[in-house]
Amino acid sequence: MNQWPGLIEAYRDFLPVTTETPVCTLFEGNTPLIPSKIIGPALGIDLYFKYEGLNPTGSFKDRGMTMAISMAKGEGARSVICASTGNTSASAAAYAASNGLKCVVVIPKGRIAAGKLAQAIAEQALVLAVDGNFDEALEIVRYLTDKYPIKLVNSINPYRLEGQKTAAFEIVDQLGEAPDILAIPVGNAGNISAYWMGFCEYLEKGRSTKRPSMWGFQAAGSAPIVLGHKVDNPETIASAIRIGNPVRWRQAEDAVSESNGLIEMVTDDEILKSYEDLAGEGIFAEPASAASVAGVSKFVHQRGVKNGAKVVCVLTGHGLKDPDAVGLMANKVQPVKATNEAVEELLDAGGILA
Ligand SMILES: *Cc1c(COP(=O)(O)O)cnc(C)c1O
Repeated sequence: MNQWPGLIEAYRDFLPVTTETPVCTLFEGNTPLIPSKIIGPALGIDLYFKYEGLNPTGSFKDRGMTMAISMAKGEGARSVICASTGNTSASAAAYAASNGLKCVVVIPKGRIAAGKLAQAIAEQALVLAVDGNFDEALEIVRYLTDKYPIKLVNSINPYRLEGQKTAAFEIVDQLGEAPDILAIPVGNAGNISAYWMGFCEYLEKGRSTKRPSMWGFQAAGSAPIVLGHKVDNPETIASAIRIGNPVRWRQAEDAVSESNGLIEMVTDDEILKSYEDLAGEGIFAEPASAASVAGVSKFVHQRGVKNGAKVVCVLTGHGLKDPDAVGLMANKVQPVKATNEAVEELLDAGGILA
């Protein structure tokens, strides 16, 4: 076979695996870096989208999960568990199912996007909906994994970050150099920490000559790092970053300060605007992903970024994950009678037949 081998084989030398480690892969990674045709030129920057929605389960979580599940399996685990705002559960369920492990996911009741829940159920995970938020779900998972041999695959699990750092490697490999700025949505702050690890390692190994400024963006209703305190009832349309007490808080702050970057917040309106802007480039990403674009759109000029700067926005998950978000943008489906004339008349009125 001559195809991409999955990220463990592609970056084996950079990962804490041995020849004994069973490689549990769905051939994740190798996602495209898409040059922006509209948003970037309008801002006067050289903008790219790292489209992580094209991973096997539709989010970057697969990068961490191939590592976490491989290590868990190598250590003899028979079951795994996670708390999740959705994508972690979809990914854990898929990697567990395909490797003979049982999977339990603990989610905040009624707060998970439809596509993500469908994935976990289809992959035969045991799905438990708690009457609480993500942070409370995580507390329960921590308690259980302290007490029983079931493996925790949340991003507290260090192997998750090891896998996720490979996205930074790919960006450098694709661009031929590190970008000036890496913009990324921040929830539990595992991913921003992982990218920073990746850029640092690539620089150390001589694969790049610099590191980017790390720009992290939280949603205004759940911005604990920006505000400097926990948020008890985090709220935002961007459910993947609806987190009030990030697990990797300190590490994210270190990444931002060491890279001379920033951590800021964007409102739900700004997120939805960027969600539409991305769709205008033919890219359908979930609302949380659009936070990176919203942040860049808002801060590039405010922070005096020079014209032509190379900026990469990480689009963390696929738009199909959260189809209800489109509904929030207004009802745009037009009813019409099932006749040639009726449809013709409508299109003609819209100037489409000219
Ligand atoms: C998990 C997730 C995030 C947040 O990543 P963290 O590592 O928790 O900061 C952002 N977007 C999407 C789509 C996610 O699934």
